[in-house]
Amino acid sequence: MAMKLKILGAGREVGRAAVALEIGEEYILFDYGVTFDERDIPQLPLVVPPSRVKALLVSHSHLDHIGAIPMLYISAKPRAYASYLTYRISKVMLEDFLKLSSYYLPFEHVELDAFLDNVSILKYNSSVEIDKRYTVETSNAGHIPGSMIFTVDTGRKRIIYTGDVNTIDTRLVAGADTSRLEGDVLIIEGTYGDLDHPDRGDVERQFIESIKEVVENGGTVLVPAFSLGRAQEILALLAEKVPYMDVKYDGMIKPITEIMLEDKRNIRRSDLLEKAIETFQPVRGWSERRKVWREPGVIVASAGMLKGGPSLYYIKRLASDKNSAVFLVSFQAPNTPGRMLLEEGTFMDKGPRVVARVEWFDFSSHAGVSGLLEIVKSVKNLERVIVIHSDSDTADRFVSRIREELGLEAYAPSMGESIDI
Ligand SMILES: [Zn+2]
Ligand SMILES: [Zn+2]
Repeated sequence: MAMKLKILGAGREVGRAAVALEIGEEYILFDYGVTFDERDIPQLPLVVPPSRVKALLVSHSHLDHIGAIPMLYISAKPRAYASYLTYRISKVMLEDFLKLSSYYLPFEHVELDAFLDNVSILKYNSSVEIDKRYTVETSNAGHIPGSMIFTVDTGRKRIIYTGDVNTIDTRLVAGADTSRLEGDVLIIEGTYGDLDHPDRGDVERQFIESIKEVVENGGTVLVPAFSLGRAQEILALLAEKVPYMDVKYDGMIKPITEIMLEDKRNIRRSDLLEKAIETFQPVRGWSERRKVWREPGVIVASAGMLKGGPSLYYIKRLASDKNSAVFLVSFQAPNTPGRMLLEEGTFMDKGPRVVARVEWFDFSSHAGVSGLLEIVKSVKNLERVIVIHSDSDTADRFVSRIREELGLEAYAPSMGESIDI
């Protein structure tokens, strides 16, 4: 039976992860996410007939991996597989997405509920049979709590899909477990396929030192952080190093952290995350929001790229204060206020110059190129590598390194391409 990989999204782009494994008339889907254009309008992946989807494997709960999933539940009810945390957090993320973007989405709450009703929960290092024909094996991807690597065994080929991966241990999650990976084809993310991150310990020390400098000087540090993953990592770090400090958090951070603590086995330092939640204060509503930035301390708030949410409110207040600071802790995409702040010193067109201290710290939850090459190398019996979730230039450089350093066949397909396997 002919087998193909169809790139429904994430072909030479970061985000909108959606890959279909086509076996005869059937499909097994890896993720079904969205991306956002310059005006923040959701861009959907390509479509396959939902009635022919035998299984949807959901790697983790970032919107660029789950945002379009309810679309598959308009005309059918495919069985989905995910970890407990991916399942629980997906609900919160998709509800919020519907609230903010419903005007652009071809689905509603009914389809979201249909998806949630059809999820089977998988643990790490387990396997499940689908239709008595395919086997799916799981392992920890090390990216955010609940993130999973899937291996699909069709009987003839074994196809591995990494989702987003990280190889280092952070407070939030242990690095990816690649010890048992075996497969013919590896579909791997290549977000940082051409660079290595600085040593995490050094980054953390500089971050904490900088925070102390600002706060001891009477200033407020705004840390814009995505409410799923990065915010919890920063809060756990602060709880370990500066628990005495006045730290507030704002946005969806609280509900998501509470869900993470429902399954502590998958949080590497759940003690620190618990300590953070017990020690630090959430911002409850507008009357508090109007006050907290006036006092010395740290505010961890979404959105991470200052595109909206409470972080945008706070930066407007703190921008003109030379004693205060904005410490960015995540990737700042082109055309976002965060990127503009780093490159032009302002966060909106013709906006005021930001007088507050601005710095960027690399707390990435994606493996750098050395880690990615290690993952490729660790896979037993590997024949070829498919690079997705990577900018075009980065993908080309990553592909060259896989070919030259590991002697493997590697390719970075574009959206819409079909690859025979
Ligand atoms: Zn992603
Ligand atoms: Zn992700």
